[in-house]
Amino acid sequence: MGEKLFIADAMLGKFARWIRLCGFDAFYADSSLTDSEIIGMATESDRIVITRDRKLALRTGESLFIKNDEPDGQLLEFFRKYPPDPSRFFTRCTSCNGILEEMSPPYGDEMVPESVAERRLDIYICSDCHKIYWAGTHRKNIEEKIRILMEMLQNEDH
Ligand SMILES: [Zn+2]
Repeated sequence: MGEKLFIADAMLGKFARWIRLCGFDAFYADSSLTDSEIIGMATESDRIVITRDRKLALRTGESLFIKNDEPDGQLLEFFRKYPPDPSRFFTRCTSCNGILEEMSPPYGDEMVPESVAERRLDIYICSDCHKIYWAGTHRKNIEEKIRILMEMLQNEDH
């Protein structure tokens, strides 16, 4: 079973970042792309279309039509169909969808803030856009939010 690939439409920018945090491969189709281009890309690269546009969802192969307006509800709709795998969290760049690679010291001064290097946090670099990430408080908050959403989903099953 291969990894599922996604393409999120222009209405789902925040959502795309969140599922990338969870390690999903999600291309973000900004508003410069037409519906036909999105469909073409989805077909060509075997991506599942995640969209807020019911018409677009009906025109594609595998798709998920998102009803909710706000990010938490959107994530719940997505996780119901595609449950996240915690071992994949923080493996992708939220900006560009690239794969994160762990870095080891010595770091270039201009890349990693001294305070971060001193705290010996795990540091990662995006293999595509070279953005730097580290495991700080922000990451704990994200994990907590996803944990709460997962609990909500589990409660739905009973
Ligand atoms: Zn990147």
